[in-house]
Amino acid sequence: LRPYSGAAKPACNIGTIGHVDHGKTTLTAAITKVLEKDGLSQFVAYDQIDKAPEEKARGITINIAHVGYETVKRKYAHVDCPGHADFVKNMIVGASQMDGAILVVAATDGSMPQTREHLLLIKQVGVKHVVVYINKADIIDNEVIELVELEIRELLTDFGFNGHEIPCIVGSALLALKGNTSEFGEQSVRKLLDAVDSYIPTPERDFTSPFFLPIDNFLLVPGRGLVVIGTIKKGTVKKNDKIDLLGFDEKITTSIGDIQIFKTSVPYAKAGENVGILLRGIKPKSLRKEGGRSKPIMSNYQQQLFSHTWNIVCRIDLDPAVPMIMPGEHGDVKIILLNKMIMDIGQPFTIRENERTVATGIITKFLS
Ligand code: GDP
Ligand code: MG
Repeated sequence: LRPYSGAAKPACNIGTIGHVDHGKTTLTAAITKVLEKDGLSQFVAYDQIDKAPEEKARGITINIAHVGYETVKRKYAHVDCPGHADFVKNMIVGASQMDGAILVVAATDGSMPQTREHLLLIKQVGVKHVVVYINKADIIDNEVIELVELEIRELLTDFGFNGHEIPCIVGSALLALKGNTSEFGEQSVRKLLDAVDSYIPTPERDFTSPFFLPIDNFLLVPGRGLVVIGTIKKGTVKKNDKIDLLGFDEKITTSIGDIQIFKTSVPYAKAGENVGILLRGIKPKSLRKEGGRSKPIMSNYQQQLFSHTWNIVCRIDLDPAVPMIMPGEHGDVKIILLNKMIMDIGQPFTIRENERTVATGIITKFLS
């Protein structure tokens, strides 16, 4: 096991975004492969990432893989979502927050619908820094790659990022994963990591306020107890510290049996780090998540929609091909408001029913 470098290295939360099959998971695996060579990380194979267990976050099932690795400069928690729907859900419920993103674009396709949708979503949730990896350079001509780069820089500018300045690395995640050391292989991944290290700033963290961890997820470890998972928002925490489990008018005092960062036990952890914390003597029933709705919704569902400073009665209609949306599912819906109202593309909204949040979404298009 590698030594814990928590004290020396800042933590940074990043993730791979981009169209399906453009190579996000291959690149994630390749990064760990290259860093393993330097003795900085442990290799995480493609299958281990793509078969990430279902995570239950805030009562909504999301498939995300968290992969941990370190460069000389920082420690990274890297999120890779298996599917587009998982990514959208993850962004909307904020189950994992990214300080920056790696946009993967296959040179075979260039910009595709999910490339744009992912950029819109990260923009919406406030991710300000993007680094581009143009993938599959092993099977595409140089001239085409240059055109793809131009296209992506323009697209980034359209979305309000600095398209001129953003580092854009050309390579092949597959070659790197296979151990190829050429320019498009391992070297491209090293260039990418250098760009991530230098272009994505470490956010200012608050290490001095009382410890605060929003619980994204929890799991019961047989024979050990309850582990709560999340990214520490404020403060620091160490083993045996007394902490309070707060919410729903309750305060349960417990203490910390163990702290893990990517399956390695650590003596302490601090703001910005993605951790699993073993709580002593806590039963799973002590943890409650947002209620949501227990039944599916169907077309002609009428409720109050809340957005910015207004709320209004709306009618939600599903895609005619979709008979219902089950709790925890995600879908495109058509919303008709009772009155005309001001709004913008990308604006988030919430649907509430009997004072309980049942859905969150983002306005993506005006229909009239
Ligand atoms: P994701 O959906 O974005 O996670 O894409 P994957 O990482 O699953 O890759 C999709 C497919 O593209 C797989 O069959 C990969 O082997 C292939 N692939 C990924 N990177 C490269 C590359 O650099 N070159 C080539 N030729 N194929 C690649
Ligand atoms: Mg994938």
